[in-house]
Amino acid sequence: MPQETTTRVVIVGAGPAGLALGNLLHARGERCVVVDKFDRRQLLGRARAGLLEYRTVATIERMGLAKRLFAEGHRHTGCEFRSAGQRSYTDFAELYEGRSHHVYPQQEVVADLLAGLVEAGGDVRLGVAAERIVAGEDGVRVHLADGSTVRGEFLAGADGQHGVTRASVPEGIATEYEMRHEFQWLTLLAEAAPSADWTIYAQHERGFAGHLLRSDSVTRFHLQVPVGDAVEAWPDERVWTELRARLAYPGWTLNEGPVISKNMLDMRSRVVEPMRFGRVFLLGDAAHIISPSGGKGMNLAVADAVELDRVLAGFDEAGGADLSALDRYSERRLPDIWRAQEFSHALLHMMHTYDSTTQDAAFRQRLQQSRLWQLTQSEAYATSFARSYIGPLPIIG
Ligand SMILES: Cc1cc2nc3c(=O)[nH]c(=O)nc-3n(C[C@H](O)[C@H](O)[C@H](O)COP(=O)(O)OP(=O)(O)OC[C@H]3O[C@@H](n4cnc5c(N)ncnc54)[C@H](O)[C@@H]3O)c2cc1C
Repeated sequence: MPQETTTRVVIVGAGPAGLALGNLLHARGERCVVVDKFDRRQLLGRARAGLLEYRTVATIERMGLAKRLFAEGHRHTGCEFRSAGQRSYTDFAELYEGRSHHVYPQQEVVADLLAGLVEAGGDVRLGVAAERIVAGEDGVRVHLADGSTVRGEFLAGADGQHGVTRASVPEGIATEYEMRHEFQWLTLLAEAAPSADWTIYAQHERGFAGHLLRSDSVTRFHLQVPVGDAVEAWPDERVWTELRARLAYPGWTLNEGPVISKNMLDMRSRVVEPMRFGRVFLLGDAAHIISPSGGKGMNLAVADAVELDRVLAGFDEAGGADLSALDRYSERRLPDIWRAQEFSHALLHMMHTYDSTTQDAAFRQRLQQSRLWQLTQSEAYATSFARSYIGPLPIIG
């Protein structure tokens, strides 16, 4: 007979959103089961984000899982903008009462959250996909690829942008706001020590280039490339030629090394509203995707988990009968998500080169110069930018 487990919250997806929620629920003595289609090796091999907002670090610290983050990660306090042969450094920490980012690779965050949950005795099932979701008024049932099922009072869909949870939401219930950006990025990781202790965003007539820290020996680079280009059009030699040209500054040297991963990025943004459907919640990339400029995706995913844990705790305290109390999850998360979308969009348009064959390209390029000028000349503008970049303060209580 196929095995069935009953729990309180079934969490589909062991990425940053799902594992953060699992740890938070577990810390409150709440039962949950986390399932992921990836096995441990696949899960810990996904090198993606690396910029942790102040509140994300605070959340991981509150879970008691920040030891490695503080030992191996780096505090990231500012960012350099290069354009038209000029460069300027914006010290976000100085503008935001000492607050900063931490640079720590996403796969290490996932490793720490996974270890924390497993060590605490959490039920984590890796290498088994959720295939079908049946959500009713009294609870949810998730059918797994190994023939077993997990039943729960609630389902947390933290299964990324291509997961099954969002797809299981009946048509007509949710609104998906989506936009495709007019830019395309080639993103790569190179075995090369960072060439500066901070992020560099370069606006260049040949297109945007980004230099982002990951570790002492690995650097992430982004390159704006023509829309429609395939990875094959970008052999390593061409990549380095472009990076050298676009990031160039007199007296500064770009550290180069073997390229260890190279991908075209789908430059799309999406928000699903609302983020709750009866007993099903969407978290992280399942609920929203955001252009990678500004490094917000993983941070929003963890912030969703924090809010959902908080709303579920409040629901129980109020007697656990009134499902409409759970609407707070969407109500509290959406303003933050849209704020991040707006910031990411503004940063994208501050640093990219518009297609010169379009009618308004020259005008938009000058608007861009104005934004960069304000960033260096107006403390109020720079402070607002710093607050958005470092992110809002953590939710306490
Ligand atoms: C190149 C790149 C750079 C980025 N840089 C940054 C950055 O600097 N800062 C930042 O904050 N964000 C960044 N992001 C975005 C960030 O990586 C994502 O927003 C983040 O991974 C979202 O976390 P998540 O937990 O919602 O989803 P995911 O990390 O996608 O996790 C979803 C999990 O669900 C599992 N799953 C899917 N379907 C099923 C199923 N049917 N059954 C069971 N399990 C399933 C998957 O295996 C996966 O483990 C970047 C993304 C990319 C691609």
